[in-house]
Amino acid sequence: MTDGATPVLEVQGLKTTFKTRAGQVHAVNSVSFDLRSGELLGVVGESGSGKSVTMMSLIRLLPDAADIGGGPVMFGGEDLLSVNDRHLRQVRGKRIGFVFQDPMTSLNPVFSVGFQLMEPLRKHMGMSKAKARTRAGELLTLVGISDAEQRLKDYPHQFSGGMRQRVMIAIALACDPEVLIADEPTTALDVTIQAQIIELMKDLRDKLGMAVIWITHDLGVIADIADRVMVMYGGQIVEHAPVKQLFAEPQHPYTRSLLKTIPSVHRSGADRLHVIEGQPPILASAPSACSFAPRCKHAFDRCTQANPPRIDLGRGHDVACFWDPETGGARDV
Ligand code: ADP
Ligand code: MG
Repeated sequence: MTDGATPVLEVQGLKTTFKTRAGQVHAVNSVSFDLRSGELLGVVGESGSGKSVTMMSLIRLLPDAADIGGGPVMFGGEDLLSVNDRHLRQVRGKRIGFVFQDPMTSLNPVFSVGFQLMEPLRKHMGMSKAKARTRAGELLTLVGISDAEQRLKDYPHQFSGGMRQRVMIAIALACDPEVLIADEPTTALDVTIQAQIIELMKDLRDKLGMAVIWITHDLGVIADIADRVMVMYGGQIVEHAPVKQLFAEPQHPYTRSLLKTIPSVHRSGADRLHVIEGQPPILASAPSACSFAPRCKHAFDRCTQANPPRIDLGRGHDVACFWDPETGGARDV
């Protein structure tokens, strides 16, 4: 997408903390980004980097222990952080759709797939039973499930993992959302099915023109489909760029490590799959230094003294890092 495209979603300085028995956890730390119409925005980072909590904060779909602050989160001219619950329920599942990682726990085992597809159509779109059933059949066909008429009567356990994920996508698409948030939608699936689901999402995005946020811990998964990528670490965006630019000129040492973790058919011998040593942090306070510094081989004094801001590198690329891979020294900021 071009830089000039209209944002459908604009997030400013989002902050989410959790109250836990062990104290506060700063899960999302001043996250700002936009989502442009029709684009696919990839969100990448290891498990625990704040991807899910960031996206769930947008529609306030978090446990009571969560405190969502900052903002605004502008969507359709409104701040989703200040609209009332009733209004927000109209947005969730209708104008913003979701697909989660595990379709078995997201689908209700005691209701037929048809029932679960028809529910949002009846609730949000006010469709009659007959109309909703026709549309539910169309949706199953759209996501590549054949014999839709018949399959509407089946229950979730009668579908394979890949087919269940297709059903979840169909449900998320039921009300023609403007935005689809897919949280590790292929992680639980085997590689072949994963590829099929990715192809399907690409196809649907092109066909339906919605904007997609695709969360994954695997940069390889979105290499071919994302327009832009945000890399998250410690509840912050540490790098953001158009996908080709990110792969060609990764700037942040964390992004560079993530790229090395992508399995490649060409990799062998000494060039085995790279593992990033150490664990992502659990932050008890808002970061006052670079949260990646303890794991970073390039870190110097400044990295442990100040939290690097996002530095604009031009061409839609920014990075929150004091180290410059080009010179191997400090960045001039
Ligand atoms: P990701 O999706 O990138 O794997 P999450 O967004 O789920 O990571 O989590 C970010 C951070 O927030 C982690 O440190 C996690 O432990 C913390 N967190 C997530 N959910 C809760 C919760 N319900 N209570 C306390 N901490 C949480
Ligand atoms: Mg997650």
